[in-house]
Amino acid sequence: MKAGFVNIFGKPNAGKSTLLNTLLGEKLAIISSKVQTTRHRIKGILTTKDYQLIISDTPGIIEPKYKLHEKMMTAVKEALEDADVAILLHDLTDKDTTESHEIFAALKLKVPVLVVCNKMDKVGKERTAEAVSFFKQQPYCADATAISAIKGLHTEELLQKLTDLLPEGQPFFPEDDITDLPTRFFVGEMIREKIYELYEEEIPYHTTVLVQEFKEKSTLVKIQADIIVQRDTQKGIILGEKGQGIKALGMAARGEIEKFLGQKIFLELFVKVKPKWRDNDTHLKEYGYH
Ligand code: GDP
Ligand code: MG
Repeated sequence: MKAGFVNIFGKPNAGKSTLLNTLLGEKLAIISSKVQTTRHRIKGILTTKDYQLIISDTPGIIEPKYKLHEKMMTAVKEALEDADVAILLHDLTDKDTTESHEIFAALKLKVPVLVVCNKMDKVGKERTAEAVSFFKQQPYCADATAISAIKGLHTEELLQKLTDLLPEGQPFFPEDDITDLPTRFFVGEMIREKIYELYEEEIPYHTTVLVQEFKEKSTLVKIQADIIVQRDTQKGIILGEKGQGIKALGMAARGEIEKFLGQKIFLELFVKVKPKWRDNDTHLKEYGYH
């Protein structure tokens, strides 16, 4: 038996969340075409008779401009230190391999690295082969491969290469667990995902979601969540004219959560203004960014 921790690294939008979801066959991590949606470390657990992989989707590598970003950088480092194997994700739709290569080399990882070139569905065979052979030649690279995370292309090969690099060992988690994070966390992420979809530009970046209540009743699940913003104007935007905004958000989020839980829910959303939540460490802790 092989067992170990795998972390997926890569620039924002490289396809980390998509890959995690494809590997796990469940919609676990928040996916958005906008950057920096993954603020937390998300673990997924994949168990077969031969191996157990515990996979994390880490935040993108970004500037420590705000305190929140520093937390993200710390999360990246913590993930690095935890891993048995690192997947470094390269986006084949980037103009070339230079930028990924520079980041990958700078990480100076002590764990085995599998470079995975993603989005092969979007580029030619030649470009894909070139990138794979380029990475295979790099000293930090134990092995390299190409996939399409979104189409599920060559993911079996990826899993084979991953398990080759895993240490021998017994499973860490019971075989039917798919994640070590509580359901209410995913509920918050799904609401956040809908905020990204429904609101413009910087609004989602000034917003966090706190699930205050998660009660399983006989016929449905009652969920109450707070949407935290920094200013009254942002609250106004979230609410929308005559509450149309929050109503649309509630409906979209409810649909998504019901699909995920396979159960009817009653969802209540409140918008609260807490100035400077991004810069205040106490608040960050309160909101789960440890
Ligand atoms: P993350 O920021 O690294 O977690 O990236 P996401 O998983 O959120 O994906 C970013 C965007 O790339 C989304 O619009 C995905 O649908 C898209 N994407 C991810 N994987 C693929 C792929 O294999 N092919 C194509 N064409 N698009 C992909
Ligand atoms: Mg992501």
